[in-house]
Amino acid sequence: MCIFCKIIKGEIPSKKIYEDDDVLAILDISQETRGHTLVLPKRHFDNILEVDAEYLSAIMPKVQMVAKLVTSKLHAEGFNLVVNTGEVAGQTVMHLHFHIIPRYVQETIKADTSEEGLEKVRQEIIA
Ligand code: 5GP
Ligand code: ZN
Repeated sequence: MCIFCKIIKGEIPSKKIYEDDDVLAILDISQETRGHTLVLPKRHFDNILEVDAEYLSAIMPKVQMVAKLVTSKLHAEGFNLVVNTGEVAGQTVMHLHFHIIPRYVQETIKADTSEEGLEKVRQEIIA
């Protein structure tokens, strides 16, 4: 089983910010910027080319909703939505996922990847 399937099953701990029947949204351990979030579809597909259009249509509004949640709660002015596809494009986990990378005009707040830092940003998002 892949690492994201294990996270979805709860076998590996994660910093959950949203969950429903279709997706699990968690903080990325690397925190490219503060609040960097991954939206994981619960069904395993290796990448965006493998997923059927019907399931993708169910997932995308969830990605939009999580992006709205994260950016509004953290007062980000924008975000990058990234879907790396294939090793050559930097995909390291072969389970379809959507990066939401909040962007701030004042990029002065350092992303904190410590347990406390992750928990603090999680609490801000889910508040
Ligand atoms: P990719 O490069 O495949 O698009 O992104 C994979 C992302 O998953 C990376 O940004 C990496 O930091 C993140 N990641 C890898 N392993 C874990 C993990 O165990 N937990 C969490 N929360 N993120 C992970
Ligand atoms: Zn998987």
